Amino acid sequence: MADLSDLGDDAGWRCWLCGEDVPQKAKPNDPNQPVADQIAPAAKGTKGRGETRLAHKRCNDLRKGRPPSIAWPKRFSVADAPELLQSLVRIDKKKDRGGEVVAMCAGPQEAEAAAAWVLPVARTLFPGSWEASCEPLSPMTAVRLRRS
Ligand SMILES: [Zn+2]
Repeated sequence: MADLSDLGDDAGWRCWLCGEDVPQKAKPNDPNQPVADQIAPAAKGTKGRGETRLAHKRCNDLRKGRPPSIAWPKRFSVADAPELLQSLVRIDKKKDRGGEVVAMCAGPQEAEAAAAWVLPVARTLFPGSWEASCEPLSPMTAVRLRRS
């Protein structure tokens, strides 16, 4: 398990599930106490970087064993989207340059807006460089996200 204070420093003491500040010190049963939230099931014996994120105990309890999920804002009218967080986890692990289509939008303008929204989300959760591109895929426009 990652050291909690390192995790907190990396995250700027912000909960990755709700986006609010996490106190560095809290009483044992304080629902706001910092915990290391496991973002994806880790392979046995691995404790690789990127497997845990700082969260409030209350947020961690709320999602229990379920995978966390990130919803596309409705204004982008994203259709046929795979679960965004799971896509980010896969793209981050693949490290290849092809990336993945993360959303299908009604047109190029929605796709550009969706790409502009998703890039900072990806960079916050998985630090490093990301790039997004929009590809016409008649009659929709695909948003592709990749590591760069
Ligand atoms: Zn939280």
